[in-house]
Amino acid sequence: MGATIHGVLERNARKFPEKDAFITASNRLTYEDMNKTCNRLARFLQDGGVRRGDRIAVMSLNNEHFFYAFFACMKIGAIPMPMNIRLTPKELGAIFQNANAAGVLHETELAETVTALKENCSLNHYFSIQESVEASANFSGGNLNVPIDSRDVCEILFTSGTTGTPKGVVFNHERILAIAAAVSVNFSLSHKDSMLTLMPLSHSAPLNTFFMSGFYCGASHVIGDFTPKGFLNWIQQEKTTFSFAAPVAYLLAAKDPDLASYDLSSMSVFAYGGGPLALASYHHVKKAFQNENFYQVYGLTEAGPNGILLYPEEHLEKAGSIGKNPTVNMEIRVVRPDGSDTAPNEYGEILLTGDSLMLGYDNNPDETNAAIQDGWLYTGDIAYRDEDGYFYIVDRKKDVIISGGVNIYPREVEEVLAKHDAVLESCVVGVPHEEWGETVKAVVVLKGAVSEEKLRAFAAEQLAEFKCPRIYSFVDELPRNASGKILKQQVKLVHA
Ligand code: ATP
Repeated sequence: MGATIHGVLERNARKFPEKDAFITASNRLTYEDMNKTCNRLARFLQDGGVRRGDRIAVMSLNNEHFFYAFFACMKIGAIPMPMNIRLTPKELGAIFQNANAAGVLHETELAETVTALKENCSLNHYFSIQESVEASANFSGGNLNVPIDSRDVCEILFTSGTTGTPKGVVFNHERILAIAAAVSVNFSLSHKDSMLTLMPLSHSAPLNTFFMSGFYCGASHVIGDFTPKGFLNWIQQEKTTFSFAAPVAYLLAAKDPDLASYDLSSMSVFAYGGGPLALASYHHVKKAFQNENFYQVYGLTEAGPNGILLYPEEHLEKAGSIGKNPTVNMEIRVVRPDGSDTAPNEYGEILLTGDSLMLGYDNNPDETNAAIQDGWLYTGDIAYRDEDGYFYIVDRKKDVIISGGVNIYPREVEEVLAKHDAVLESCVVGVPHEEWGETVKAVVVLKGAVSEEKLRAFAAEQLAEFKCPRIYSFVDELPRNASGKILKQQVKLVHA
């Protein structure tokens, strides 16, 4: 049968029955508490008609309710689908329909969204997590005996939708536990660790990679929503040892006026990913936190995420790199369009393989076959490797602008514009052009005053003529998804 995720919960309940394992703003639960509650809830769901293989959307805030729903589904062989609760009922309805969702387990506070959702799609089950937990109090808290195999599908996650509509990414127990094992080895985690998870649990990195790796070892978990103060308070109060966050979260915490009064010395890892931390920002947070333990992780939902790490000591010498060494059970290559390996400093696409790749995209064999070929995942990220074997991301393949047959990487242009004192951020896209196919457009958010003419001159000083934006548009803000990434395709549509 092999190991299962809920089997790890049951093991932790036996090994660490007394330990505070799930700490939230309103609760402190041991692994035993969590396991018993999930066993009762699982029986309640069975009683309510939820069956093995049913896909159940989990709409929860970042708290213990998420895990009640998540583990209870797994215990009866139902498939939890953690949802981004910031999506509109219409967007959620479309995802549920595509995924053939059988029901939803939702936080009571989200009842309004659920009511609106009922108008957009009809599911068999609508359960409030809190009410169901209360109603399950009389069911047995003992472990269930549902035969579940490590290769059974156990989770469907949705990509953030940066490059289009969110895609359902399917995993089984075996693959997720492979991520957990690899990441816990790479970060030397143990049951003594205390993991701080303040990023949305519907996103793959906080859930599959960082929660799971600590969970695998029997560590404690502090779960909540990110605020700069909350982040600092939790570290000090719970003496947490490990956090994963988007780079912007660390930058915000570093700005807290009371930062100097906090003791952050318990932290052995500040992991970040999803995007780079510019060298100046890295220096800034390192100094502000008085802590050097910054690790960059690169990966994507389709690979777990599990990929490659940039260790603290590599940040200076190899600034801008995503690292050299993949995690213990992964391999990485950069290839040309014909599949052959690139030479040092030559651009190509990153391929990943290892024990933790997705099984595939949900209900989409064509996209799955395009994404995974001969066991390698085509990441869609353009990169190169330097002479020392370090990898550098250039841009996403889908974002490359082809103007007059020449490739232009928007990220390079954005990095140049960001160096101007008056520029807060920019999004560079290709817009249709009769003669060249596409031309370069910069959509810019300013933080100071600068004329378009001066910005053009600034870009022209540092970029080859063909890369310089031909069209500028100035906006107050850029659209972002739940993980804070700019929705480039949306910008492209609006500004075409
Ligand atoms: P969608 O696939 O729906 O467009 P998404 O790609 O944003 O959404 P994720 O799986 O969360 O979904 O993001 C993975 C992508 O994020 C990677 O392919 C890469 O482009 C980028 N990324 C991840 N880590 C890093 C990093 N350390 N540095 C630079 N880019 C990164």
